[in-house]
Parts: sequence; C-alpha cells; structure tokens
Amino acid sequence: MKAPVVRFAPSPTGNLHIGNARTALFNALFTRSHGGVFILRFDDTDLERSRQEFADGILTDLQWLGIHPDTIFRQSDRFANYDAATEKLKQQGLLYACYETAEELDRRRKFQVARGLPPIYDRAGLKLSDAEKAAFEAQGRRPHWRFLLAPETVAWKDLVRGDCQVDSRSLSDPVLIREDGSYLYTLPSVVDDIDYAVTHIIRGEDHVTNTAVQIQIFRALGAGSPAFAHHNLLTTVSGEGLSKRLGHLSLRNLRESGYEPMAVASLATLVGSSQAIRAVPSLAELGEILDFSNISRAPAKFDPLELDQLNARLLHEMPYDAAAPRLKKLGITGGEAFWNAVRANIVLLSQAREWWHIVSAPIQPSIDDPEFIAAALALLPEEPWDTTTWKQWTSALAAETGRKGKTLYMPLRQALTGIDHGPELAALLPIIGRSRAAGRLQGKKV
Ligand code: GLU
Repeated sequence: MKAPVVRFAPSPTGNLHIGNARTALFNALFTRSHGGVFILRFDDTDLERSRQEFADGILTDLQWLGIHPDTIFRQSDRFANYDAATEKLKQQGLLYACYETAEELDRRRKFQVARGLPPIYDRAGLKLSDAEKAAFEAQGRRPHWRFLLAPETVAWKDLVRGDCQVDSRSLSDPVLIREDGSYLYTLPSVVDDIDYAVTHIIRGEDHVTNTAVQIQIFRALGAGSPAFAHHNLLTTVSGEGLSKRLGHLSLRNLRESGYEPMAVASLATLVGSSQAIRAVPSLAELGEILDFSNISRAPAKFDPLELDQLNARLLHEMPYDAAAPRLKKLGITGGEAFWNAVRANIVLLSQAREWWHIVSAPIQPSIDDPEFIAAALALLPEEPWDTTTWKQWTSALAAETGRKGKTLYMPLRQALTGIDHGPELAALLPIIGRSRAAGRLQGKKV
C-alpha cells in the first residue's frame, strides 16, 4: 500500500472529548502503522464560534495522547481556494442560487411531511429566471447556494462498514454557501482533501450521508475519491451521545485528573470493537492490533469504570524506571521498594502520594485491642528489615497468641497504617521502618 495521508479535522469550537479522541487515534494509528502522514486540520470556517484557545487545547490534547501531527493548517487561511472551487462548480451549473428564507423552507418541509412526502428540497431555486432572481435581490435578499446532486446511487467500500450505498435522490441538494457568503463544512473539506492529497478519510458514522455528497463533489472538481472509514460513535453507558459540553469526559479533564494517556487511548481504540479491552502500553502496540474490520456497527459505550481499571492495570505493570521521575515530582522518595509496594493499589499515579504519606509522615494509629498490640510490640524484630521481616514477626506473634488470618493481621494493619486496607504489609513494613512502627504500636502519632 502507498503511504497513507490522513487528516483529523476538528472544529476549534470546544474541547476534545474521548469520542473525538477515537477519531484522532484511528487516524493516527492507521497512518503510523503504514508509515504515512497525519494532518491536523482546523475546520474553522465558522469564524464566530472558532477560537484560538480551543485550537491550542486540541493540539495539547493530541500531543498528550502521543499524536504529533506532521502538518497543521486551518481552513480560515484557505478561503481563496474555496472560492476557486466555487467558481468551478458554478461554471458547470452544479451550484445554484436559492432565495428561500429558513421559515419558507420550514413551511415547505412541513407541508411535504403532512402529505406523506419525503422532505426533500424541491429545487425551486433551479427554476428561477434571471428576472425573478433580480426581483429577490431588489427586495434585499441574498442567495444561499446549493450543490446540484446527480441522481444516482453513490456506492463505496467502507473500511469499517463494508459496502455502502446512498441514493442521492433521497437527499436534498446540500447548501454549500450560506446567505452571508460563509462556507459550510462540506465543500472546504473536499477542497482540502484534494489539495493535501488525502488518501483515507476516517471519521464518525454521522458523516455517512456527507460522504455520498462529497464523493459527487470530488468528481465535480475533477478528483478521485479517497478511501472512507466510518467508525461507530461513542455514547455514555445509558446511550446518550457525548457532547462537547460533557466536561468530565474532555481529554483536558481526564489529563488533569491524572489518567494515563495510554489508558485513555487503549479504551478509546478498543471500545466498541470485537477486540477485548485491555491496557496497551504504547501507541505502536495499539497500532498493531487496530483492525477497522473489528469495529462494530452498534454504538460504542463509554464506561468510566473501565477507564479506571485500565489505568490501574497500566500502573500495576509500570516498571519503576518509568514511574521514578513522576514519583519524584510528587515528592516521593521511597525508591523502587515503595513503587513495588504500592503500584497494585492505586488507580491514579497521584494516589501514590497517599500511601507515601502513610509510610513517611505522622498518622494516627488505630488500636482496638491494646493487649494484642502490646504483644506485637514486644515481638517486633530488630533491624535490619526486609520483605521477610513481616513473615518472621507475624509467625512469632501467631505462635505466642494463637491468632491467625484476619484477627492476626487486621489489628496490625490498623495500628501501623491507621486504616484497614492497603498494600501488602510485607512490602510496607520495611519502608515504615522499625522506629516509626514501634511508635505506632504504642499508639503514638508518628
Ligand atoms: N469538522 C468535521 C467534524 O468534526 C470533520 C469531519 C471530517 O472528518 O470530514 O465532524
């Protein structure tokens, strides 16, 4: 296969959420695994709603995920190209002026529906004479412009959905240019895809109908169509669509909450496919297992619990070398022994701080059974301590008191850590150290 060229084309009108991340990842993983190019295109023809801060945020989010675009451009720099394409379509009689107001169109649609007809635009604009157009202009009306669809079945082989067909006769001629002269997304996207030689358009299935229209526009502009892949959309567990307003699922929020980018990327890529969801440690490995034909047709459901599980799993398997600089930033100086002790007990890396506090700062011990704890103190081995010390100590204590299982371990855990759950004490005990452990067994806040 020739090296692909793909583009991810968000509008900079909000933050990316995990559903957008899927589209970005499908594009990036696909192109990287075939030695291709990834373009980031800002679809900012809506000048009112587009903002630089959102564009900057999108790039930050992508880089956090490990996606580094080869080329970045914005549509607002390319109006001259869209104007030229507009001329080309007009010359072929494929773009025609319409003067209906939104209310008129709405009335017409309701009338069609009431009569059991499909609400398709009746092409009244196409039939206007020059005199009629002049009369509308004299009233101060400005035209919007529609693309004249060819009456045919548009077919393509979708890399996700297989054979796709859309009968363009079931569609209204799409408006490409609004009354105020601004472009809707449809035409600029095709012009860019042609000019940047995009080979694969990978996007959500909400664009399937656009694809039929755009295939005709590619042809009208004298270009072949790229390949298409339309993936299923992500919904919440209860089936609602993710909107940009769902702040907690924004990549920014997930990043700031301390999730690992590979947990987000693993879930985003594997959810809604026939592949098992698992924590994959690198984009390169994720790219190797990505297969568009495994993406299912049903919506993909995002379950925050799954994200936590993947995050925990990545941390559990994270070697100390990878964790070390981040632990240092958190002020944790417990070294490899500490990391090995706690990594199975945290969902977010920042939670290591709570355990670090427990082993290295004063905490209130919890002692319900002073007699037993006094016996434990008396049997506390002398230093040096290592991970076998716990076993040695508790065996002696079991022999002395006849206790075993939870009645043996739980009071010790509560006295040594102040709480009743946590990492294995065999690993924690040497980190706590003898003097602090002895103090806690005496009920001291040390
Ligand atoms: N700006 C469009 C969107 O975010 C791009 C769609 C496309 O990839 O063509 O839906």
